[in-house]
Amino acid sequence: MTRRDFFKASAAGGAAVAWGSFGFDLRPAYAETTQLKISRANEVRTVCPYCAVGCSMIAYRIGDNALNVKPTLVHIEGDPDSPVNGGTLCPKGASTMQLALAQNRELRPRVRRAGSTEWVDIEWDKALDELARHMKDSRDKKTVLKDAAGLEVNRNEGFGFVGGATITSEEGYLTAKFFRALGCVYLEQQARV
Ligand code: SF4
Repeated sequence: MTRRDFFKASAAGGAAVAWGSFGFDLRPAYAETTQLKISRANEVRTVCPYCAVGCSMIAYRIGDNALNVKPTLVHIEGDPDSPVNGGTLCPKGASTMQLALAQNRELRPRVRRAGSTEWVDIEWDKALDELARHMKDSRDKKTVLKDAAGLEVNRNEGFGFVGGATITSEEGYLTAKFFRALGCVYLEQQARV
């Protein structure tokens, strides 16, 4: 092995090249490293937040259930028991740790009032109450029973719904049913149900 080959092997993590070149297999040692990281962790099954495929994941947290200890997310990987992804994740899903631990991630609802350029925090209960109020008002004011040709349409032109990437096919189905029941015609989400 040349000096250049040696550094290449080191940079690549070493496992595969070292196994062929030095005569021993480092893969069990690397697997053991991962096991050490999650050995005391709790497993939480969850779903990838990025697209409608809805790949299943296992999130590993340490620090739960102990007094004065903040739970810490240490690892996320594909769920091998999932019929959707069988333990695999695409590169985007495999980077979910970056999203989960992002410093600028919004954890609470925010609202931008009509005419304002500022987003402000709002409590969940208040946000849901206001949302329900706006939807009811919109239905009362903007429901169209018949179109210009006199055809019965029973649609609400006052609000729309835009779903997020986290909506799975099943949630997309329920969302579509719910908003169509409200007469909503402007409906879009990633599952495209
Ligand atoms: S892992 Fe990739 S394919 Fe699977 S849900 Fe996430 S983004 Fe979609």
